Amino acid sequence: MQFASCEGADTFSSMATATKRPKKRSANIAIVRRDDCTGCEACIVFCPVVCIDLMGASENPAEKYVLIDKETCIGCTLCARYCPWESIDMVVREPFEQRAELVFM
Ligand code: SF4
Ligand code: SF4
Repeated sequence: MQFASCEGADTFSSMATATKRPKKRSANIAIVRRDDCTGCEACIVFCPVVCIDLMGASENPAEKYVLIDKETCIGCTLCARYCPWESIDMVVREPFEQRAELVFM
């Protein structure tokens, strides 16, 4: 059996690829308490979207800590649950960003 090809299918297909869906941001994000972070890197292993970076990785391990890219964080809580030092807090994104703007702007 043969089906007639749908007219306009090519147009629809090209429209679908041309339209980018806006990126949905999670309601919650993870924040590292830098003073409590030992730089053990456990959280990096668990992050499913690879948004945790090790900083200060010089010769001195005491200076190591991690930073979380809040734009990429999906709020899954895995890093907070597996941090052996309980150095990660989950916060509601919007109030946190508003406070950060007030402090840093
Ligand atoms: S698991 Fe905790 S202590 Fe270890 S690097 Fe991540 S935030 Fe720091
Ligand atoms: S909450 Fe999830 S996505 Fe966000 S930094 Fe932690 S592990 Fe990564």
